[in-house]
Amino acid sequence: MSDIIQLLPDSVANQIAAGEVVQRPASAVKELLENAIDAGAKQIKLIIKDAGRTLIQVIDDGCGMSDTDARLCFERHATSKIRSAHDLFVIRTMGFRGEALASIAAVAQVELKTKMRDNELGTSIVIEGSEIKEQSVCQCNNGTSIAVKNLFFNIPARRSFLKSNSIELKHIEEEFFRVALIHTDVAFSFYSNDKLIYQLESSNLHQRITGLFGNNYKQRLHPVEEQTEQVKIRGYVCKPEFSKKTRGEQYMFVNNRFIKNFYFNNAIEKAYADLLPEKTYPSFFINMEVDSSRIDVNIHPTKTEVKFLDEVIIYAVLRAAVKKTLGQYSLATEFEFDTVEGMDLNPAPAPKGYIPPAPTISVNPNFNPFESTSYKRGTTYSEPAYDKGNKWENFFEISNEKPEMSTYTVESNMEQETLFGTETTESDTTTHNTSTTIQVLNRYIVSTISSGLLVVDQQRAHERILYERFISRTGKECISQQIMFPIQCSFSAADAEIISEIMPELKDMGFEMNPLGNTVFVITAIPAEMNDGEVQNMLDEMVEDYKNSLMQKFNDKEQSIALSMAKQLAVKKGTKLKQEEMQNIIAQLFSCKIPNTSPFGKKTMIIMKDNELTEKFK
Ligand code: ADP
Ligand code: MG
Repeated sequence: MSDIIQLLPDSVANQIAAGEVVQRPASAVKELLENAIDAGAKQIKLIIKDAGRTLIQVIDDGCGMSDTDARLCFERHATSKIRSAHDLFVIRTMGFRGEALASIAAVAQVELKTKMRDNELGTSIVIEGSEIKEQSVCQCNNGTSIAVKNLFFNIPARRSFLKSNSIELKHIEEEFFRVALIHTDVAFSFYSNDKLIYQLESSNLHQRITGLFGNNYKQRLHPVEEQTEQVKIRGYVCKPEFSKKTRGEQYMFVNNRFIKNFYFNNAIEKAYADLLPEKTYPSFFINMEVDSSRIDVNIHPTKTEVKFLDEVIIYAVLRAAVKKTLGQYSLATEFEFDTVEGMDLNPAPAPKGYIPPAPTISVNPNFNPFESTSYKRGTTYSEPAYDKGNKWENFFEISNEKPEMSTYTVESNMEQETLFGTETTESDTTTHNTSTTIQVLNRYIVSTISSGLLVVDQQRAHERILYERFISRTGKECISQQIMFPIQCSFSAADAEIISEIMPELKDMGFEMNPLGNTVFVITAIPAEMNDGEVQNMLDEMVEDYKNSLMQKFNDKEQSIALSMAKQLAVKKGTKLKQEEMQNIIAQLFSCKIPNTSPFGKKTMIIMKDNELTEKFK
């Protein structure tokens, strides 16, 4: 039998390698930015078109390449960063595997222009699918410009796997953050579709964080610093109250390289212990300097996973360092004057052309001054079923559309069973015909119905009520409250884009807002259900939720915003409710279109029928 094994041609081998190194436009961005850093650049420009589908270009003012190197850099395993296996153990550069450019050139049309400082002329190379199409001498600036065009032009299947532009751009932005955050001595500019979205001067970590995430981060950061024999730690952690619902803002670096390390992330989260609200994660920006012979960065093609020889010690040091910071500063803030919420006596002058809106008054014609609780019956919310008798009990009789419910009628007996026997409560004598509810564990509302027992989860029920209220509000006249002193909310450039994108929906929900420059918005009215103290947090969270819904391909803006607001504004478990509030929740829940589940698809209530109860007592 004849031999059948052959060596693969380079172009095929490169395409296979590209599968690991270049998964999406963001991977190419990462590799090009890292090469520019390794070349000692002090200014890096990133230019993206169509979320990297048509163009990814990185221009740097680094060391540039010679004629021969310019050609060689596209060969696989061609690198200037290591010479021997021994060098693998003392890596200080971002790259070293010599496969990024070869991989990128295998799956795109690449144009390279590069010139070394001492040379008069530079080199220009065009390479497509690993094939050099053109090489010439050219006039160009010192440094290197690499333009990657039509990524995956020769692998249509890969191209069609790319997600929507907003998702791909989000991934690119993330890679940009990971490089820009830690290389603070380098100036960066980032253009997307000809629009400048980030302009970062060379600075320190604190300024870099605020440059990327927005000026409101100034008040959120606490410095962390620690040095032992094994590790030097420097960075910032966010105050516990600014923790996020996702782990999206956890940036850890080792020797200036972004890494993912759940073990160390856990060390930081442990340091926060019970300071964090439930199901939230702290934001942090931490760099660790470690002897490069005590780590191995060569365990993963994209090098975000790194092995540490001293990981147990580093874990302990990291946790202690963050704990120390949180201890020091949480005490200090008790005495700090609140500069965030306080009134700004020297507000920045409004830019030219900004016309402050005339104050307006919105009146709620249903307002009843004799109702004191926050849930006002029939004032802010009215559904036909509920309006009819203003009593949720009636719902059971009225509604035929909700088959599960319609068979129940609520008992209006005035006698409340307590642990101590039957007694007549205050409400019995004052408001007849009202079913009594009790709150259990500050979380469930329990009431009786003719066929048994009704238990409502207060938080989920309220989420449902608010969600339907917000969703039905869109496009119609909404109930908003003017705020006395307009609030300025600031965002990172990317988040500000999102706020602009969802602004029409926010306005439908009751916000009145106008942009002030690129990243600041002035809020003059908010939905009636909100407090003005929570506006910035609420909008931050809405942006976060909206980004997540984009990631999950769930792209209905209105729904995403209504969900986010309902989630944030609903009464939480653990909140003690008054009798009337509980009754209102039940009443309003049963006026909802889908009362049985929360907008997140969780059960809002359970009903225990007579026979089930009997069964339990057997
Ligand atoms: P690696 O970075 O792992 O060495 P790459 O394929 O990314 O591999 O790059 C190959 C080589 O090309 C690098 O080692 C470097 O010598 C050269 N190179 C790449 N990008 C640049 C740049 N922007 N400026 C100068 N040299 C570069
Ligand atoms: Mg590289």
